[in-house]
Amino acid sequence: MKQYDYLVVGAGLYGAVFAQQAKEKGKKVLVIDKRPQIAGNVYTEDVEGIHVHKYGAHIFHTNNKQVWEYITKFAEFNRFTNSPVANYKGELYSLPFNMYTFNKMWGVVTPDEAAAKIEEQKQAAGITEPKNLEEQAISLVGTDIYEKLVKGYTEKQWGRPCTELPAFIIKRLPVRLTFDNNYFNALYQGIPMGGYTKMVANLLDGIEVKLGTDYLAHKPEYDAMAEKVVYTGAIDAYFDYKLGALEYRSVRFETELLDKSNFQGNAAVNYTDADTPWTRIIEHKWFEFGKDDAGNDLPKTVISREYSSEWKVGDEPYYPVNDEKNSALYQQYKNLGEKESHVIFGGRLGEYKYYDMDAVIASALAMSEKELA
Ligand SMILES: Cc1cc2nc3c(=O)[nH]c(=O)nc-3n(C[C@H](O)[C@H](O)[C@H](O)COP(=O)(O)OP(=O)(O)OC[C@H]3O[C@@H](n4cnc5c(N)ncnc54)[C@H](O)[C@@H]3O)c2cc1C
Repeated sequence: MKQYDYLVVGAGLYGAVFAQQAKEKGKKVLVIDKRPQIAGNVYTEDVEGIHVHKYGAHIFHTNNKQVWEYITKFAEFNRFTNSPVANYKGELYSLPFNMYTFNKMWGVVTPDEAAAKIEEQKQAAGITEPKNLEEQAISLVGTDIYEKLVKGYTEKQWGRPCTELPAFIIKRLPVRLTFDNNYFNALYQGIPMGGYTKMVANLLDGIEVKLGTDYLAHKPEYDAMAEKVVYTGAIDAYFDYKLGALEYRSVRFETELLDKSNFQGNAAVNYTDADTPWTRIIEHKWFEFGKDDAGNDLPKTVISREYSSEWKVGDEPYYPVNDEKNSALYQQYKNLGEKESHVIFGGRLGEYKYYDMDAVIASALAMSEKELA
């Protein structure tokens, strides 16, 4: 008999949901994380009463009723709606492209006028078979929107001119002929009041958690403690990169505490011109306080400038690169993983997969149901 039924490596959402489910089924669980804090990439740090999204802005949105009902047992969500603003050389546009955007761009007033303007620009460009991302975008939304709202932003994100990027990256560019600034088409959306860290702490309530400890550096000791391991770290790291390292795309954040109550009046402002080096600025307080006087009462604000950056081994892994080469390498690691019968690989790093929060919760719940049946 070992001390624990499950060792959960990683106190992020996947690990915390599994641990909560296992505890509920009467299992003895130990959760460990190499970071000094819980919550993985949804960790929010309290700076002067503002919950700063340390590993990138996180907005919860889902159409999955089961996930929503589950997660709202551990946090109350506010009514935050993601409505980013685009700043093109000081001109402000509403995102995603909708009637407010078209009115600002062309002075059109009705949906028919907006649709006609887009069509006119698409026709004028005369592109039938787009050869690159630039031609693809123009064929979808016309020249003005492409030049002001797509080109610079996309080039900063990919670090290459749109004419050198493949057309398939942009399959469609949503155009809304309504006055709707809500970025996500989701039935449920919001930010947990009190921050994501508190939500994860509630998931882990009553569960033993050990922080600042790297499983891979003490693997034999930890393996001896538990019957099974749920591993949510990087799968290539688990196998000591013996087949090579999986690649990621990274983001760099420059965060500042400012002595003013309101910097930009919105949680997210995208800089869509090519000259501004950052892709967007996040003002964290607007996720939580709502756009009202309560936020302005606090004389400070925290902003993060985001820069797209190339990833190298040792950097924080953010977005998996699901191209042919990396997908094939992951498949090889997955095959090795299947031979480790006492280990379950899960979550964004364990499965080398971009998961939104709702999807990672759904995945952890499905795995728990199977495992704990
Ligand atoms: C920039 C960015 C923005 C995002 N924004 C959104 C958003 O707006 N909405 C949305 O729904 N989703 C968003 N996501 C996705 C969201 O971050 C993920 O769904 C979620 O964090 C995945 O949880 P996880 O538990 O799989 O991984 P993680 O949160 O990464 O947790 C894994 C944990 O394992 C620990 N660990 C790793 N190796 C070891 C080891 N050897 N020993 C001990 N511990 C270890 C790590 O320290 C980490 O804490 C975003 C992702 C990124 C990258």
